[in-house]
Amino acid sequence: MADDNKNRKATPEQKVGVYVCHCGGNISDHMAVEEVCKNAEKIPGVVKVRNDVFMCSDPGQELIMKDIKNGTVDRVVVASCAPGLHETTFRNAISRAGGNPYIYEHANIREQVSWVHHGDQATNKATRLVAAAAAKARELQPLEPFRVNAKKHVTVVGGGIAGLKSALDLARKGIEVALVDKSPFLGGWTAKWDRVFPTDDPVSELVTTLAAEVLNNEKITVYTCSRITAFEGFIGNFKLTLTQAPP
Ligand code: SF4
Repeated sequence: MADDNKNRKATPEQKVGVYVCHCGGNISDHMAVEEVCKNAEKIPGVVKVRNDVFMCSDPGQELIMKDIKNGTVDRVVVASCAPGLHETTFRNAISRAGGNPYIYEHANIREQVSWVHHGDQATNKATRLVAAAAAKARELQPLEPFRVNAKKHVTVVGGGIAGLKSALDLARKGIEVALVDKSPFLGGWTAKWDRVFPTDDPVSELVTTLAAEVLNNEKITVYTCSRITAFEGFIGNFKLTLTQAPP
């Protein structure tokens, strides 16, 4: 890892801080956190590496906030649990310190590392995840959030049992649905079977009932013999191009 880092060009104008969490032993009992930190110090652009027993605690967040406030760092990587748990916590800490919350990158070294690996394997994987997050952090630019008027519309791809159920569930919530399937009929693979386990019910009844519900639902538009051949846009504003042709 050290040799790889020597060959990379540093971006001196961006100062990355790396903060590695022990999670009270959940992480540090399975890897050498000190070694992960030492390796992080060699990553181009990384100017500060700290570790803490509980990075999401007030004192842990304070470490990050202090480094931002005094200008030591302007990009932040936290190596800890899954981002779903505390990404927002750390973005908010950066905001409270006067920074832009989008200068933040998360490395998951708990669920993706210490919960599934141990020893050198865990240390090496955590080192690489931190290096990847730090490299990405150097590219991050401050962003301003904005709102778009999202149309309540969902495209479901695949008209098998899962697709039919999904389309119906969405339609029942008042959402317009486009159901797209490449084949000329609904039901997918299941429609080719005879009976379902464990009830032994005939598949034809199940598929026919569901397909009839979908076809009679005014909120669902069904496109058979169709494929998505292009898409553009972003979350809340996607545009898809469908091409209809016999399979
Ligand atoms: S930030 Fe996540 S990994 Fe660290 S102490 Fe809190 S819950 Fe554990």
